[in-house]
Amino acid sequence: MGKIISIANQKGGVGKSTTAINLSACLAEKGKRVLTIDMDPQGNTTSGLGVDKNDIDITLYHLIMGDNEVSDAVININENLDLIPSNVDLSGAEVEILEMEDKEFILRGITDKVSDSYDYIILDCPPSLSILTINALCASDSVIVPIQCEYYALEGLSQLINTINLIKDRLNDKLEIEGILFTMFDVRNKLSQQVVENVKSNLDQKIYNTIIPRNVRLAEAPSYGLPIIEYDNKSAGAEGYRQLAEEVIQEE
Ligand code: ATP
Ligand code: MG
Repeated sequence: MGKIISIANQKGGVGKSTTAINLSACLAEKGKRVLTIDMDPQGNTTSGLGVDKNDIDITLYHLIMGDNEVSDAVININENLDLIPSNVDLSGAEVEILEMEDKEFILRGITDKVSDSYDYIILDCPPSLSILTINALCASDSVIVPIQCEYYALEGLSQLINTINLIKDRLNDKLEIEGILFTMFDVRNKLSQQVVENVKSNLDQKIYNTIIPRNVRLAEAPSYGLPIIEYDNKSAGAEGYRQLAEEVIQEE
């Protein structure tokens, strides 16, 4: 049984997709078998892994609707890395899932079928606490919460932690917060350091030692459809996500 990890924060633009893409790629590089599932109708993880999101026939949407076998949607990215892609079609599923029986567990029905084939399944959540995010959390063993090193970093975080605790109580008792991950840390900006210290002293959660730096190469890589370790193997961003993958593996 692979470990299933959601990358979640309902705040937009905090580095969820960047983390999903690059943590997946770095775990795969270390020889782990990884499946990445794009849970966001924006499809950023899909395109960031080099798949044209407007040119795919079978996506997560079709699996949710029960139209296809899981394997029909899986795209092989490299030797150890597979992707279940998404695009704007998935926004339709948000409405349709609400009508389904056991609506919180539709994704779990999908991951249950494939989790034996992988060491890790990484779920990139959309920037909301929608039914898609609830489905991701109900299918997961744990959650990584990326936090951007900026002034409003903690905004919305208590709501997210409440939601995670509620799901743990009522729907998925194995769910844990795997860790808080600081992203876009700017060494030249004093505020970044203050945010890290402030969160560390105010938040009673596991925080990764790894801090992902603000690195322009990380922002450029998706437009080439490449994870950072392929786009610029020696960049600070590549180093950061490699270190994160090591921490995640050590958690086992
Ligand atoms: P959304 O909530 O819209 O899904 P997100 O939380 O998935 O956003 P990303 O898409 O990963 O966030 O990142 C937001 C933007 O910041 C993107 O343009 C991305 O390339 C850039 N970015 C992410 N992490 C870094 C970083 N460490 N350094 C520089 N740019 C970054
Ligand atoms: Mg995203």
